[in-house]
Amino acid sequence: MNEADLRTRVHELLAAYPPSEVDTLDFLRARFDAGLAWVHFPLGLGGLGAPRTLQAVVDAELTAAGAPDNDPRRIGIGLGMAAPTILRYGTAEQQHRWLRPLWTGEEVWCQLFSEPGAGSDLAALATRAVPDAEGSWRVNGQKVWTSSAHTARWAILIARTDPAVPKHQGITYFVCDMTDPGVQVRPLRQLTGEAEFNEVFLTDVRIPDSDRLGAVGEGWRVAQTTLNNERVAIGGQRTPREGGLIGIVAETWRERPELRTAELHQRLLQHWVDAEVLRLTGERLRQQLAAGQPGPEGAGGKLGFARLAQQLTAFEVELLAEEGLGYDDWTLRRPELVDFNGREAGYRYLRAKGNSIEGGTSEILRNIIAERVLGLPPEPRTDKDVPWKELSR
Ligand SMILES: Cc1cc2nc3c(=O)[nH]c(=O)nc-3n(C[C@H](O)[C@H](O)[C@H](O)COP(=O)(O)OP(=O)(O)OC[C@H]3O[C@@H](n4cnc5c(N)ncnc54)[C@H](O)[C@@H]3O)c2cc1C
Repeated sequence: MNEADLRTRVHELLAAYPPSEVDTLDFLRARFDAGLAWVHFPLGLGGLGAPRTLQAVVDAELTAAGAPDNDPRRIGIGLGMAAPTILRYGTAEQQHRWLRPLWTGEEVWCQLFSEPGAGSDLAALATRAVPDAEGSWRVNGQKVWTSSAHTARWAILIARTDPAVPKHQGITYFVCDMTDPGVQVRPLRQLTGEAEFNEVFLTDVRIPDSDRLGAVGEGWRVAQTTLNNERVAIGGQRTPREGGLIGIVAETWRERPELRTAELHQRLLQHWVDAEVLRLTGERLRQQLAAGQPGPEGAGGKLGFARLAQQLTAFEVELLAEEGLGYDDWTLRRPELVDFNGREAGYRYLRAKGNSIEGGTSEILRNIIAERVLGLPPEPRTDKDVPWKELSR
């Protein structure tokens, strides 16, 4: 499959489903079936087995034709984390069941990983999955900080299936049906006043064994695929030059002559250069990705993204002075997505604080870069070979 073939396919899709005449969902389903959803996925699963780099050709053609998109920000966890994991570890049946409605946005996904006692040390998790008499699993435990749990149809879930072995070994990876009566979702209000994430309580939740991803006890390995993809999904987003937050800040500076001091200009330029470095690093990351699964290098992109987002949002508030501190509304809302660019400076400033925590804290990402990218000596770990049930908690 080359670029010309791909353009022909796009034009055939547009001719059969003119975007201005057909329903959005019909268009998205037809796009998936034509293999133009994510071209690097296999035939029959929304792709054509083509190089990942060719996706940009499809996206540009469809955008120019005014085609609807699948609202990637709303379904980011499904696209960025669940899909690559299902593709790598799912059975053919699981892939066919989940990938199409995931990509079209008909089914939203969330990620049930973090727990009150297992965040950075995720392998310490205590949620238990026990086989029952019917050959299913019964899951009990509590998850926390679960973005989109209130809108999700499915969740990727890791749970402990064997407490007698060291913590990384006794974990299994499941897909959890969020409509199970044992799943209770409670909003958790954030610094922004909104509750885009939740606490999730799991009480005797039944998961059929056919909804397990990967082998029993292999969940940590499966989760690494999710986590590596998560960092790239957060830190490797494609933005145009001077796009995203740097664009907003530069615009503020340009619109207000009183801000054009030499000192502020120097600081803006420094941020502009950092944003450009990050943009090009993201580009390189995507090129690496075209050749295979993301590795630990993605940690650098996510680390840089969080740091720059916090610096830029703080600089914007500083530029706007009192005006930047105003806040529109503290009503408890449960939004479907994080509206980073659509809201005002005060919201951006507060929401960016979470960037250095979600998807792995900056401290943990530095550990990953040190140990797995640079090969520096690892942190001392005393609990690696101790059975989980003997660990003090
Ligand atoms: C906005 C937002 C959305 C989120 N969405 C989800 C979601 O959808 N699903 C989900 O499962 N989770 C989600 N999370 C949870 C997130 O992944 C965890 O908060 C994160 O992994 C940190 O875990 P913790 O909060 O338990 O902090 P802790 O692990 O208790 O860490 C506290 C502090 O100690 C530092 N620290 C811990 N260990 C070390 C170490 N070895 N070396 C150096 N420093 C260390 C940390 O870096 C941090 O600064 C979300 C979090 C946020 C803020």
